[in-house]
Amino acid sequence: MRIFNFSAGPAVLPEDVLRTAASEMLDWRASGMSVMEMSHRGKEFISIHEKALADLRELLAIPPNYKVLFLQGGAIAENAVVPMNLLGARTSADYVNTGEWSKKSIKEAKKYCAVNVAASAEDRSFTYVPAQATWKTSRDAAYVHVCTNETIGGVEYHWTPDTGDVPLVADMSSHILSRAVDVAKYGVIYAGAQKNMGPAGLTVVIVRDDLLDRALPITPSAFHWKEQAESDSMLNTPATYSIYVAGLVFEWLKARGGIAAIERANIAKAALLYDYLDRTEFYRNPVQREDRSRMNVPFKLRDESLDEAFLKGAKERGMVQLKGHRVVGGMRASIYNAMPVEGVRTLVDYMQEFEQRHG
Ligand code: PMP
Repeated sequence: MRIFNFSAGPAVLPEDVLRTAASEMLDWRASGMSVMEMSHRGKEFISIHEKALADLRELLAIPPNYKVLFLQGGAIAENAVVPMNLLGARTSADYVNTGEWSKKSIKEAKKYCAVNVAASAEDRSFTYVPAQATWKTSRDAAYVHVCTNETIGGVEYHWTPDTGDVPLVADMSSHILSRAVDVAKYGVIYAGAQKNMGPAGLTVVIVRDDLLDRALPITPSAFHWKEQAESDSMLNTPATYSIYVAGLVFEWLKARGGIAAIERANIAKAALLYDYLDRTEFYRNPVQREDRSRMNVPFKLRDESLDEAFLKGAKERGMVQLKGHRVVGGMRASIYNAMPVEGVRTLVDYMQEFEQRHG
């Protein structure tokens, strides 16, 4: 039996995708092989890779002057890889600090360049996105880095920053493919796959062509965007099985009506939860209303001594991974694309019932 898995990542995948992967496990389309066993340079895997790339391009309407790379190392690796690839002759970069993942990016970038924190939401415990009018960007920054969805704090940009000629770089790990995005407004978008795209192991980097000539000489080849672009992301052996499953997820999204349809569903799912949180005093979400994440919904019980009982009751009703991140405590419901609306309804019903019992 399947449960409702509210994990922040690795996270729930569409059941149809898992069934297809299972049915193709031993013999992918009469090849006599599992995808796991295929050479990454064989025609079978090349076709899987190319289809996944094309579908991702179509879903996000990625303009032709962008390369899409299927790399490894996750977003944590990109925290180092971004400055290595983008600094060129410059020595500093701007970062907007909206929470735990921004902080990690900043800490890592400091190994490679001077970091100017252009704005920070630390003054209000990372519960909002600082308005762009308050950002103190620097003229000679190599790029401006943002985390457009803070997975731990549950804070999301519902607008696109305008950084003029300075390339905008976004960590979209926890909301990529959940909503429409105007890729042309970004220089680089990166994301680990294990929330909205597929299994861990695959890292997607979308980079504008003109930014491919700025890498520092120390950049490792496996993380050198230009070298990887010239090798069709095959300079090293890519995460073949993860790419295959991500490709199935892309097909699933297309069959469901693409990004516009999934965005509508995500708005509806998030509203179910936030509308209830707004009606009760028993639970509380700390995030400023207009910056609330549609993907990660943290909330606290008024009486924290009930946390364990809440989690136990949730588990008994088939809902797991609701415990909040240790940095912020409380609860967190991650409701990615593959979380069915029934999962969110079951959670809200349970929250109400728990409130009636203990409120
Ligand atoms: N950035 C964000 C926004 C994330 O949510 C995560 C993972 N939770 C990371 C970076 C780190 O990703 P990884 O562990 O794949 O390197």
